Amino acid sequence: MDQSDSEVCNLSDAGAGTNNPMCKCGKRSRILTAFTLPNFGRRFYTCENYLNVDNRGCGFFKWVDLDICQHGKRVVSKLFEWHENLKTERAQIGTTISNEILKCKIEVAEYKSKMEVASINFEMQLQMQKNKFHAREMKYRVALTCSLVVVAVLMFFPVSNRHSSRFMLP
Ligand SMILES: [Zn+2]
Repeated sequence: MDQSDSEVCNLSDAGAGTNNPMCKCGKRSRILTAFTLPNFGRRFYTCENYLNVDNRGCGFFKWVDLDICQHGKRVVSKLFEWHENLKTERAQIGTTISNEILKCKIEVAEYKSKMEVASINFEMQLQMQKNKFHAREMKYRVALTCSLVVVAVLMFFPVSNRHSSRFMLP
């Protein structure tokens, strides 16, 4: 019997029943269920020390159930085929979902990176505008100060001229 671990199950394991035949170890055998074709669902006696396909204890083996009839085998074979197709389909859907999640993560990372660059550019533009504003403000202050000085001088000069013309006249 060629079985992997997933093809054997203790679904119908009744433990070491008192009616179970003795295995080569001198212990009562246990019952497991095969899930292989063409013995899908068929129970068998095996060594109580059976762990997996590579470690079958003393290797004792005997069928519990009679062989399945030909029609039953065809039905089981069809069910097995559907089951395998469903497993494949599920794996493909899982892969598709994983790929979509990965794509979304990449898109989010790219968007985040673009937003960071845009934010840095915005900060730089803002700083440049602030600098321009301060430079213009300074220019206006200087111009205003100069204008005030000129006005003050113009207001002061006529008075000075009157005083000087009075003293200089003969
Ligand atoms: Zn044994």
